[in-house]
Amino acid sequence: MTQALFKTLALRPELLSTLKELGYGSMTPIQAQSLPETLQGRDLIAQAKTGSGKTAAFALGVLNKLQVDRFRVQTLVLCPTRELADQVATEVRKLARGIHNIKVLTLCGGQPFGPQIGSLEHGAHIVVGTPGRILEHLTKGNLTLKDVHQLVLDEADRMLDMGFQPALDAIVEQAPTQRQTLLFSATYPPEIDAIAARYLSNPVSVTVAETH
Ligand code: ADP
Ligand code: MG
Repeated sequence: MTQALFKTLALRPELLSTLKELGYGSMTPIQAQSLPETLQGRDLIAQAKTGSGKTAAFALGVLNKLQVDRFRVQTLVLCPTRELADQVATEVRKLARGIHNIKVLTLCGGQPFGPQIGSLEHGAHIVVGTPGRILEHLTKGNLTLKDVHQLVLDEADRMLDMGFQPALDAIVEQAPTQRQTLLFSATYPPEIDAIAARYLSNPVSVTVAETH
């Protein structure tokens, strides 16, 4: 079977050259199945096991669409834990290094508020965070989602396991209805369908089966 190459995608040249530098030549199966849909602007439910490259699968869709000269929060990525949010932010920054002046901010619980408020005052293009802390910043008026056109729910199954559904509901309610929503998960329990039905619009569903 021939491997799908990143260069066959309509990605901006800065992203293609960074992928080449990083040695990412071919897409992983979840990337090959989801990126063409994401780049078309479709909502997406994507399921594949841990370590299958889900971060780049959404990050490339996000970075391809981002307008650097509009210094507003255009993308919100929700993750279950600070550790995962930090990993996502690191990967997004790595993939974004060819696009100058992109600001990625992490906002997670267990961290002091003051520096986060200061960072929000400076602004960001992409916010990556945990649901509880993001909701607190929204409630306090430190953060607005009015310019968000892409919403990513990463590790959605774990966020539900951790009891974040009420926070997710409250956050999604504040996001513009005109947006692209991408949901990534390692497993696909029925609860995923329930939130997908509320948060996503006419989504494409892609699954990469486990091979043993
Ligand atoms: P997941 O979110 O599915 O658990 P990650 O996004 O964390 O997986 O990716 C796992 C690892 O694979 C990361 O170290 C990432 O840099 C690497 N990776 C992702 N996509 C590719 C690719 N197309 N080619 C080579 N390495 C990749
Ligand atoms: Mg992941």
